[in-house]
Amino acid sequence: MIGEPRLLRTGIQEVLRLLFPPQCISCGEPTVSDFGLCGACWRQTPFVTGLVCDRCGTPLPGEDEGRAEFCDDCLTIARPWERGRSALLYRDNARKMVLALKHGDRLDLARPAGEWLFRAAGPILAEGMLVAPVPLHWTRLFRRRFNQSALLSRALARAAGLDHCPDLLVRARRTGSQEGRDRDGRFANLAGAIRVHPHRTDRTVGRAVLLVDDVMTSGATLAAAADACLGAGAASVSVVTLARVAKDA
Ligand SMILES: [Zn+2]
Ligand SMILES: [Zn+2]
Repeated sequence: MIGEPRLLRTGIQEVLRLLFPPQCISCGEPTVSDFGLCGACWRQTPFVTGLVCDRCGTPLPGEDEGRAEFCDDCLTIARPWERGRSALLYRDNARKMVLALKHGDRLDLARPAGEWLFRAAGPILAEGMLVAPVPLHWTRLFRRRFNQSALLSRALARAAGLDHCPDLLVRARRTGSQEGRDRDGRFANLAGAIRVHPHRTDRTVGRAVLLVDDVMTSGATLAAAADACLGAGAASVSVVTLARVAKDA
């Protein structure tokens, strides 16, 4: 008797597999496993590997010798957070997938992306961390109906077994687009634009917070979000993004 439900489940899974064989999450070609990329798409998807900047996750030349190294940007720009990682470089197939997720065409990408985030964030994860997304302004949220960063942070929190607080942060004011602004302009545009939700401050006090965003460009948004968490009493802030815009990308 005990075995029967499992047999039934296996049977259902087999039928589903016949009806819906596993497909590449990028191009739809048949693959061997669910939620994976086919060989061709894998080769066109720039996963970050090897030595990375400990603060933003951008790849660095040289070998990983187990000590923290930093990129030029992180040595010159104030980064209020401690450590950071990124799963992908924002180009080629990674860029395509990030945009498909952002525009709502492919919300199913959040699940495999959560696994990639989990793998990338591995070295900076700590027990008891609170996972939270970088917020969209509510007018943009209203138009788009979802925050892609919240989908990613939920998938990551689930994969990592950590607490998730999707509404930890809110946009205090509407900010113009970051596009077309230089680095200083991007930071000025975001300064003070994000705060901890007034009903959520009790969750941040003394807590290590892990902020999640889809793309890191200048780091201005993450800096504003990290400042907000620290201002509300967070013990530390780390960041992880699905894709990092690297200088040579
Ligand atoms: Zn493919
Ligand atoms: Zn860096």
